[in-house]
Amino acid sequence: MLTLEEAREKILAAIEPLDTETVPLLEAERRILAEPVTATLDLPSFDNSAMDGYALLASDTLGASTERPRRLRVAVHVPAGNTSRHLLQSGECARIFTGSPLPRGADAVVMQEDVRIPGDAPDHIELTDPAAPWEHVRLQGEDVKRGSPLLDQGIRLGAAHLSLLAAQGRSEVRVGRKPRAGILSTGSELTEPGQPLRPGHIYESNRTTLAILTRQAGAAPEVLPLVPDDLEATQAALSAALATQDVLITSGGVSVGEHDVVKEAFTKLGGRTEFWRLAIKPGKPFVFGRLGSKLWFGLPGNPISALVTHQVLVRPALLRMQGAVSVEPHMVTGTLGQPIVNHSNRRHFLRVVLTPEGEVHSAGAQSSHTLQSMAAANALLDVPAATGWREGSTVKVMLLPG
Ligand code: AMP
Ligand code: MG
Repeated sequence: MLTLEEAREKILAAIEPLDTETVPLLEAERRILAEPVTATLDLPSFDNSAMDGYALLASDTLGASTERPRRLRVAVHVPAGNTSRHLLQSGECARIFTGSPLPRGADAVVMQEDVRIPGDAPDHIELTDPAAPWEHVRLQGEDVKRGSPLLDQGIRLGAAHLSLLAAQGRSEVRVGRKPRAGILSTGSELTEPGQPLRPGHIYESNRTTLAILTRQAGAAPEVLPLVPDDLEATQAALSAALATQDVLITSGGVSVGEHDVVKEAFTKLGGRTEFWRLAIKPGKPFVFGRLGSKLWFGLPGNPISALVTHQVLVRPALLRMQGAVSVEPHMVTGTLGQPIVNHSNRRHFLRVVLTPEGEVHSAGAQSSHTLQSMAAANALLDVPAATGWREGSTVKVMLLPG
């Protein structure tokens, strides 16, 4: 049996990133950046005011005090979005607003709250404090310098990255293509939700989990029809799916029962099983296979096993196919709110609740078929084989996507 790390390494080693495409910014959320981005524009792109107030020459305000206020004439008015050709002279100031370009000659801005308009001279201001040079001025290029590196290739784009691109004047960005992922469930006991339930049957639920987790990993899931535990039917379904998808994510039929025919069906199609079985709980019967450039992830049918193995193995693979550099799960530190013991000889991923205060509690029953604790959990706690932890221990948990 492989360790999880060995399995992940084997899978990632088998992956070539897919091709890339250019998409509008609003379609690039959660996609992987496929180009290094260099700034083409200084930010700010011109010196401008950080305040509503008055632009002036700092030297005009030297020695200003309550006893000896300085009086300056408002020579020009520059609302945001406007420019002025006026060259500010000593004794003058400019009425200016947040984001207005700094008029030529000015080297400081005073806030309007800090000036007085003299009753006898409404086109003047009075200052009772000196202004420091470049006070309340946002200098050209102080945030981003033209030509400097801005975003690294391989990062996952979020709102702030995309707004930075927008601020550079870009409307589109190059990203990794979404892997097409067929989601296929096998099992003669499975019934489509919405249909009447026959005796001995259960409603099929893994395709919902797997399609959503797949989408959250930036890929494009396609939910495929249910397949019974029958070799020929499975072979036909795998073959049809592999023709159009980049990856195939199946659930069920990879254990040791005589009705577990998915591995055999994949092999009959010419596919190669790279490995089978992992030293983790839940998720032991996981299979990874390849057929040409197509990847097959054979997940166990137990709903928790399917969720956990998608999270720790399929998600990193889908991200890497899009060109992601970092594919490791998001880990956060918490404190155990109760003792936790793993009596088994396999590493156990427990469903836990991480509270907003950072306390970690079991989400409920932990066997691999219990669904309620899966719905209650927001994280997984990775507990090594034969290990016990006291209440109050510091632990790391893997956040599940919301
Ligand atoms: P298997 O891996 O095929 O042996 O299935 C293990 C357990 O998971 C069995 O109890 C199945 O009925 C259940 N199961 C398998 N596939 C699904 C599915 N798609 N949705 C819900 N339960 C499933
Ligand atoms: Mg089955």
